[in-house]
Amino acid sequence: MANSHLKLPIQYLRGIGPKKANILKKIGIQTVKDALYYFPSHYEDRRNKKDIFEIKPGEFVSITGNIVQITEIKTKTNLSIIEVVVSDGTGYLKAKWFNQNYLKKIFRQKQKIKLFGRVQLDHWSSSLEILNPDYELEPFSFSENYDILPIYRLTEGITQKQLQSIILSALSYALPFIEEYLPTEIRQRTKLPLLNEALKSIHFPPSNTEIRDLNEKTTIYHKRVSFDELFLLQLGIISLKFGRTSQKGISFNPEGKLLKAFLQKLPFSLTKAQQRVIKEILSDMKKPTPMNRLLQGDVGSGKTVVAVAAMLSAVECGYQAALMAPTEILAEQHYLNILSLLKGLPINIVIHTSTHNKYINLISSGVANIIIGTHALIEENLKFYRLGLVVIDEQHRFGVIQRAMLRKKGFNPDTLIMTATPIPRTLALTVYGDLDYSLIDEMPKGRVPVLTEIIEPENKKIIYKIIQEEINSGGQVYVVYPLIEESENLDLKSATQGYEGLRRIFPNYRVGLLHGKMPPKQREQIMKQFRSGEIQILVCTTVVEVGVDVPNATLMIITHAERFGLAQLHQLRGRVGRGQRPSKCILLPYKLTEEAKLRLKAIVNYNDGFKIAEEDMKIRGPGEIFGVKQSGIPDLKVADLLRDQSLLEIAKTEAEFLLRKDISFKEYPKLKEAFEEFWADRMEIFMTA
Ligand code: ADP
Ligand code: MG
Repeated sequence: MANSHLKLPIQYLRGIGPKKANILKKIGIQTVKDALYYFPSHYEDRRNKKDIFEIKPGEFVSITGNIVQITEIKTKTNLSIIEVVVSDGTGYLKAKWFNQNYLKKIFRQKQKIKLFGRVQLDHWSSSLEILNPDYELEPFSFSENYDILPIYRLTEGITQKQLQSIILSALSYALPFIEEYLPTEIRQRTKLPLLNEALKSIHFPPSNTEIRDLNEKTTIYHKRVSFDELFLLQLGIISLKFGRTSQKGISFNPEGKLLKAFLQKLPFSLTKAQQRVIKEILSDMKKPTPMNRLLQGDVGSGKTVVAVAAMLSAVECGYQAALMAPTEILAEQHYLNILSLLKGLPINIVIHTSTHNKYINLISSGVANIIIGTHALIEENLKFYRLGLVVIDEQHRFGVIQRAMLRKKGFNPDTLIMTATPIPRTLALTVYGDLDYSLIDEMPKGRVPVLTEIIEPENKKIIYKIIQEEINSGGQVYVVYPLIEESENLDLKSATQGYEGLRRIFPNYRVGLLHGKMPPKQREQIMKQFRSGEIQILVCTTVVEVGVDVPNATLMIITHAERFGLAQLHQLRGRVGRGQRPSKCILLPYKLTEEAKLRLKAIVNYNDGFKIAEEDMKIRGPGEIFGVKQSGIPDLKVADLLRDQSLLEIAKTEAEFLLRKDISFKEYPKLKEAFEEFWADRMEIFMTA
């Protein structure tokens, strides 16, 4: 519906002009189309038409009668009240308006008037009255036609009445020009109304519409507009997927020698789930189209060996494989870990981050087979020799658009994305809708769930004893301090102070300090010492949050636990309980809000990441958790991923069906236009090379 009438700047609509247009701009209305899509936040029901004799206090009514008396009252506090008595033949009703002096020039004796408002009892006179009601004077054009009124979010300089009439005139101007772009078959199958009917009825609903459906935005009119958004969204995501599967990628066909050698050296056998997902990944890599797969498995489920298996398969076929981690520390750890897992195998492993960049030549010449690093891996100056597989670890903030951009960056490697965060279905269909999916749904044998408890600050001393016992029985300890962006220095100070304190309390143990601001050499040194057991207590900021793996660490103390989100707490706790020995996690909260209480309760009660994510969604809603905003998909203005789940499923089915039939919208030029408008500034990701 990208036609010139809808794009008309709102100021050219009759009766608006530049001044009002400037005010409208503040609420996002610049064109006629913006006005049509500026939906009511709720509705006022004026269908309760009553005779004056039958009204009761508390009721919202509409009354029609004649003005029989107009009085202006000035109170001692200099308040002006216009009081009007209305009669409809069955009784008298007093209406009062405060500080709206101009009304006395508008009302006249005997005039016919309609009043809309809530009735209340005036305790002084014990008669009924109605305060600041909406009114309409004869001739009743508006209220004859519309007895359910839209209520809009306002801004300074515009009244509800003005905005209602602006939107009404935008509708009457534009409705004839609105083109129906949804194919008829789809409209018939979904039983949704025409777009122009839907738009009109969202603003000015037919009088038989349920007020509850309106206020919950679940009328067929709201559904039609939500469906459009979800459908256009799915068309984009699915065409990305189709576009990818029609691209030529690498068909990896390894004999499996490297993988076999690796598995023989592993000190444990793979879980059934690990074996299954490795099979899924290898068979996907064999296909001639680029792989784009999400590997999901809870914290500690053993995703790393799965990634290594995939990387070895790429390497055996003569390609390079890269593993991208979200932090330097994690990259360093993966590097050391994978180095030791693959010791003795005839391959070269290097690290590349912004601080470790000595191996650029080995990477570009192809000497390096496996490259482990951070975002530095996708920077332009880094040239690979023959990159065949990219593994992205713990990176659930990488959205559909970023992934498409990565592919457009020039290489077309297979991609495996690993995450510990379970993804609800609605998001799996949107932000991750272009991905295939593998799940590790089993933990390695012998894992004992981590015992979690809350200790109040006044009992802090107990913690020192627990630390001592843990170390004496051969374990190691993390003590985590929060890091808040606004006051990084302050938090660093608290970690540093904690470190000094613990050193004083435990002079016989080695205490280490780790934070993100340290020079990498020193950081590596500390991690190495902690891994080897030389350091017994590691005081750290959340730099250990993701992926750090020291199986002998069995106690985790989280200070200011109230400041962490649920996913973060789960990740942090996942640093312990990685070996055979039972582990403990102690939460030390200081100030508890209601929400923080819910979070801590969830983390104490559940060990299962899926349960925890479910609780998190209940507390915060899914959008927050999975960063729909950062994902790069266009904003949804009307649809709501939680409320509109079933619409989303239908939209997906319809989009798939249509694209299978006609991927370039040859038969649907109007739909094509709507599609391009919806994805406007992101169209380049759909242009296949
Ligand atoms: P995550 O899925 O959280 O990334 P990791 O890959 O870091 O988990 O694995 C967690 C720990 O479990 C590591 O110490 C790893 O060596 C170990 N591990 C992985 N798979 C198994 C297995 N099948 N049996 C026993 N231990 C395993
Ligand atoms: Mg991991």
